Amino acid sequence: MRDSFGRDIRYMRVSVTDRCNLRCRYCMPKEPVRTGQQDILTDGEIARVCRIAAGLGITRFKLTGGEPLLRPLLAELVARLKETPSVEQVTMTSNGVLLCEEWDRLFAAGLDAVNVSLDTADRALYERITGFDRLQQVLDGIDRAVSCGAAVRINAVLQRGVNDDAWRELILFAKDRPIDVRFIELMPIGMGAKVKGVSNTGLFAAMKAAWPSLKPDGRVHGNGPAVYWRIDGFAGSVGFISAMHGPFCGGCNRIRMTARGELRPCLGYEDCVSLRDLLRSEKGESRETDDAIARAVRGVISSKPRMHCFEDRRRTAGAEAMVQIGG
Ligand code: SAM
Ligand code: SF4
Repeated sequence: MRDSFGRDIRYMRVSVTDRCNLRCRYCMPKEPVRTGQQDILTDGEIARVCRIAAGLGITRFKLTGGEPLLRPLLAELVARLKETPSVEQVTMTSNGVLLCEEWDRLFAAGLDAVNVSLDTADRALYERITGFDRLQQVLDGIDRAVSCGAAVRINAVLQRGVNDDAWRELILFAKDRPIDVRFIELMPIGMGAKVKGVSNTGLFAAMKAAWPSLKPDGRVHGNGPAVYWRIDGFAGSVGFISAMHGPFCGGCNRIRMTARGELRPCLGYEDCVSLRDLLRSEKGESRETDDAIARAVRGVISSKPRMHCFEDRRRTAGAEAMVQIGG
């Protein structure tokens, strides 16, 4: 499906929970989100929406959260989505804390790739950023997935005055392992509005000085807006997702569904359509037909704005946003 700006929308991020086992300071509000279990979509409801979306041309799904690995039976959901006609790819973004223990089930279910969010390789700084001493668990999870030959990416967000220099060590993950290490500019969404980010422009210049062999990597790596570079002798690439200082919205190919079943055309705005209301009647049974849900999905796609509104804080999505929308 194309949106009204001609962008081909074929990717959907699906948040499966808004709970998390970390408290990253730029994401999780001080009072964590507590959505009642009854308000979270069931596996059957998520699978139904994904099947309908797949029928409209959405072929790639990313499970996110909150922390998706906190959702019981996530591997079963992965397997179910993978069996859906027209679905080409099911991936996940995770903080990696539970990855090692869940990996075998996810891999067997057919998970195509995993993005692990990691903002530093330093144990004390990791605890400062996330609130927990769990770096080793994340590293074990990354190693486990890489050892199975899985596609693994590291996503890092740099905060000014906190982990500005963490990139040096993070890039080294790509040296001997076929891992892409990507730097996502902090967006002023929810708690992110209270923290200062680091511009990828300055970061790139510092990296180029440290590794002069940095050169563009023309290969397609994923489904998103990252721009990739290679360093001589490195197994993986370095990616930049420049939400604030780079091309970001022009190639946007995605919609997002929150764990409560709200379908959002854009990360930056509060606007959404509640699919949960269409999926459920008061008694909890299916209320609307697949056609009605497909119409709602089409409507969200055609309402996608041309670009985010990060420059206007009054319009940007509110306090609990990232942990609910799923990044
Ligand atoms: N818990 C999982 C994780 O950390 O990967 C999935 C959800 S988390 C919201 C998804 C991604 O959003 C993480 O990589 C996180 O660093 C990123 N994120 C959260 N708040 C952000 C913000 N304000 N700006 C940019 N990225 C943000
Ligand atoms: Fe949790 Fe991910 Fe948000 Fe960190 S970024 S608090 S791991 S949802």
